[in-house]
Amino acid sequence: MILIVASCVAALVALFGFYVYAWSVPTWQIFGPALIRGPASGRRIALTFDDGPTFPFTEQILDILRIKKVRATFFVCGMNVERFPEIVRRIHTEGHIIGNHTYAHPFPYFRGRKRFAWEIDRTQEAIEKITGQRPSIFRPPYGARWIGLYPALRERSLRLVNWSDTGYDWLEKSDIVGETLKGLRPGSIILLHDSRNIDLPEKVDRSRTVKALPAIIDGARAAGLTFVPLTEFLLPRET
Ligand SMILES: [Zn+2]
Repeated sequence: MILIVASCVAALVALFGFYVYAWSVPTWQIFGPALIRGPASGRRIALTFDDGPTFPFTEQILDILRIKKVRATFFVCGMNVERFPEIVRRIHTEGHIIGNHTYAHPFPYFRGRKRFAWEIDRTQEAIEKITGQRPSIFRPPYGARWIGLYPALRERSLRLVNWSDTGYDWLEKSDIVGETLKGLRPGSIILLHDSRNIDLPEKVDRSRTVKALPAIIDGARAAGLTFVPLTEFLLPRET
């Protein structure tokens, strides 16, 4: 009897573990749709930066993008938007796309629909106040999904976008250029970071990402790939 109960408990724990794991893998779509990569036609790729804006790294990235003539996508946190409205204005006026990355970058598990709704709405409002536009794309913190998220996104016509490639720039010793370039192919969506969660600027160091960026852009172009704003991947496919 004890054995049966024990195996039932073990099975439930395993099931729950699988369930949580499935929500946390950015590329898995078991519980709802996520855009992971764009169409393979056209040799287009998209560059995305999460967690900003912050000072001075977002502006350093903007400087490089301007010199290299690349349009990118910034998934911003609402709290950082309120801290640095001028940088958000610059992102927008320089032709980059802005996406919603929640207000305070919470770990999504065990958060209800109401909390998601608040995180999303406050960020949409903060962005709209500056740019006059509400984002149409959303990326969850850590790429992780939880039960209340999809209904909240559906109600607001927001598309969930994760990524296919990354330089692992949140790890201290990652080879950001090598990691980013090694798997790139047409349709790739690249994840990098211009800030970290909603940490204050003095706690954030994204100098390694800034340093890696020119080589990433040059390397991708040398491979015959073209950078496009992520929203190009959301347009209906050409037939
Ligand atoms: Zn993030």
